[in-house]
Amino acid sequence: MKIRTRFAPSPTGYIHLGNAWVAFLNWLWTRQHRGTIVLRIEDIDRQRCRPEYVQALMEDLAWLGLDWDEGPGNRYVYGSAFQSERLPFYKAIFERWKDEGTVYPCYCTRARLRQIASAPHPGEEAPAYDGRCRNLTEEERRKETKTPSWRFRMETTPVRFTDLLCGPRETVLHAGSDDFVLLRADGMIAYQLAASADDGAMGITHVFRGRDLLTSTAGQICLLQNLGYPAPVYAHLPLLVDENGVRLSKRQHGITIRDLREAGMTAASVIGRLLFWAGAVPEGTAITAEEALRTIAFEDCRALHAPEITAVPVL
Ligand code: GLU
Ligand code: ZN
Repeated sequence: MKIRTRFAPSPTGYIHLGNAWVAFLNWLWTRQHRGTIVLRIEDIDRQRCRPEYVQALMEDLAWLGLDWDEGPGNRYVYGSAFQSERLPFYKAIFERWKDEGTVYPCYCTRARLRQIASAPHPGEEAPAYDGRCRNLTEEERRKETKTPSWRFRMETTPVRFTDLLCGPRETVLHAGSDDFVLLRADGMIAYQLAASADDGAMGITHVFRGRDLLTSTAGQICLLQNLGYPAPVYAHLPLLVDENGVRLSKRQHGITIRDLREAGMTAASVIGRLLFWAGAVPEGTAITAEEALRTIAFEDCRALHAPEITAVPVL
C-alpha cells in the first residue's frame, strides 16, 4: 500500500507549537514509512482565514525543516490543495445527498439548539440534536420560514476503528442526535463534509491529528463509507496543554513558531522540545528534523498514548 498522509492546517493565524507538534509527528512517521505528505489548506471559513497565513505557515514549516510532497501551487489528480477552491466538489456531493434524501433541512434556531445542548444527557459532552426536523413532512417544511442548515440523516450504527495511539474504539452513532450539520444555513460547507470528502479523494491512508478530533472520527468514517472510500487509519495525538491544563492555542502568548524564532530559538531546539514532550529525548536536546528522521524512530515517542501532555512554555 502506498502511504499518504496529510497536514491540514486552517490559516487563521500563525502556526504555534500545537500545530508544529502535529505537523512534525506526521512528518516523522510518514517519512520513516516512505509515504507521501499532502499539505491541505482548510480555508473554507473565509471570514477567519487569510492568505498571508498560508504563506507564513509554509515558511514556518520550512524553517522547522518539515517538507511536503503535494500542496499549494501543485495541483494533482485531486485538484487544488485549498479547500476554498474545492467548493464545486463538495457542493456536487451535497446535491447528490440532497437528491437521495441523505441530508435533510433543519430549521431550528440557534437559541433552540443551544437549549438542547445545555441539557446534555449524563456522561455526554457533545451537544446532541433532538432530531426535530428529521421527519418533517413536505407541508411542514413549507411552513418554515428560516433558511435551513442541512443535516446528515444518520442511521443508528456502531462504528469501530482501531486508532494507532488510542487503541480500539467503538462509538454508536444515533439517528437524530448524531445528525450533524453538513451545510450551514449561511451556505458554508461544514468541516465534517470537506475533511471526509478530501481524505477520500486525496487517497489519504493515515490521519495524524489532535485528540480533540477523536469524537469527530466515527461520523467521518460514516461519510467516507457513504462516498465509497476506504476509511484511513487514524492516529490521534495527545493535546499539548499548559500548566493549567488549558490547550495551547493561538490565544496564548509566545508560542507561535514566529515568536520563538524571533526570540532567537533555533529550529533544532524547537524540534528537540517537541521530541522531549513526545518522550523520545531528554530535556534540553537540540536536534534538527533531518537528524531526528535518521536517529529517532517514531516508536521511540513513548508518551503519545496519553490524552494530553503538559508543555511548559518555551520562552
Ligand atoms: N483544519 C483542522 C485544524 O486545523 C484539522 C482537521 C483534521 O486534521 O482533520 O484543526
Ligand atoms: Zn432542526
